[in-house]
Amino acid sequence: MTLLDKILSHNEKFVANKEFERYKTTKFPNKKVVILSCMDTRLSDLLPVAMNVKHGDAKIIKNAGAVISHPFGSIMRSILLAVYELNADEVMVVGHHNCGMSSLEPDHILTKAVERGIDRKTIETLQYSGVDMDSFLTGFTVVEDSVRHSVELIANHPLIPKDVSIHGLVICPETGALELIINGYAKKSTT
Ligand SMILES: [Zn+2]
Repeated sequence: MTLLDKILSHNEKFVANKEFERYKTTKFPNKKVVILSCMDTRLSDLLPVAMNVKHGDAKIIKNAGAVISHPFGSIMRSILLAVYELNADEVMVVGHHNCGMSSLEPDHILTKAVERGIDRKTIETLQYSGVDMDSFLTGFTVVEDSVRHSVELIANHPLIPKDVSIHGLVICPETGALELIINGYAKKSTT
């Protein structure tokens, strides 16, 4: 049985047994918060439990590294949607220690791509046509700096209203301990 088959067969039972009933909520986050974090599997359950974020409490956006690569990309759009359409009035960027994005090396990934059958010419063509592989496939060195950068990017975004608090945190993927990097309330009162 493939993983997909297993998921589909589990799902049939899940729906038939009405197990979904205890997850009833609305699309509006109860705690009026949007959280941007990393897709790391160690955080799947740990992060919400460690932050006391229950089902229905928050809009949670995840990618590799909790990074915003582009001010007009899909992550920023999701944050704007959460703010304007879903009543979120706080944003929390939550990076984590030992993140895979902190050791990302473009050459390493491209070598693996070639090993997996991607033609080197394809990569060269992309580079010649203006794709900057180095910045596309680069992560960050220090997670605290990356969180700070994302918080600044959101806070200074031309479409983010000034009454939204933008916080920055780093979570330990083993213990769930949070470290406050930027307190968005304090920042708001000084500006
Ligand atoms: Zn990560």
